[in-house]
Amino acid sequence: MFFALLLMNCSGKSTNDKIRIVATTGMIGDVLASCLDTQAIVQVLMKPGVDPHLYKATAGDVSLLLNADIIVHNGLHLEGKMGEVLKKLSSKKVVIAMSDQLPKHQLRMIDGAHDPHLWFDVALWTTSLQGVLKQIQRHHQTLIERSGARISNYVQKLHALDRHVDSTIAMIPKKRRILITAHDAFGYFGRAYDIQVIGLQGMSTLSDFGINDLMRIGDLIIQNNVRSIFVEMSIAPRSMQALLHNVRSRGGAVNIGGNLYADALDSPNTKAGTYIGMFEHNVSTIQKALQ
Ligand SMILES: [Zn+2]
Repeated sequence: MFFALLLMNCSGKSTNDKIRIVATTGMIGDVLASCLDTQAIVQVLMKPGVDPHLYKATAGDVSLLLNADIIVHNGLHLEGKMGEVLKKLSSKKVVIAMSDQLPKHQLRMIDGAHDPHLWFDVALWTTSLQGVLKQIQRHHQTLIERSGARISNYVQKLHALDRHVDSTIAMIPKKRRILITAHDAFGYFGRAYDIQVIGLQGMSTLSDFGINDLMRIGDLIIQNNVRSIFVEMSIAPRSMQALLHNVRSRGGAVNIGGNLYADALDSPNTKAGTYIGMFEHNVSTIQKALQ
């Protein structure tokens, strides 16, 4: 122990053989920590419940990033306000994007831009994760060798989650499979698990919504007798309350079906603090409210 501390002081780094990985979002941090041996220290930049579209790196974040051996981010402008920081770091550090691991044709396009919310298709997220692990292996071969059993065990869990999500959403009658949320985070989810998805705000929470959006989605709720709409944890609920009010003022009946995790996990020691736990929460909430 004393020796380890001594090493830390002399080198200015943490213990000599630890590999520091900094992930921007909780979804990335959790899947990496689940796969990697304790030789890697995985730290997450954005705290639980933080909206990545609006997030700006603090001075503390920059020093964390500068001390990292590897930085893993989502890409496709999810971290919209960190673009410059990540670009600068990529000349000094190993910077890996989850989205770069996928062929372009698997990415969703909306209004000429790629949809960044990849983690909502479990199979796609698994492929991204495996690609990132391969990139890490190029720099830290023994870490990936040591992690072999953990990786295959976790990938099995992800495959099981994918099947669970698919069969749970399939329980909802087809005509009621309409998921209305605060922003367009669930496009990949809809494509993968066969449920129509509508977001009040656009693909980024930077865009706002207007009365036209309220009327258009309000009409759709009334015409399809949609029972429930959903609040997103990382976005203030006012948008969905406005929609609720719009529909009810026109005689429609709709309620809030529950809270969904969209762009952030919950605190690490809670069920939805893991990628798998977050997904299970969302899918069970959606299925109960819409079925
Ligand atoms: Zn989003």
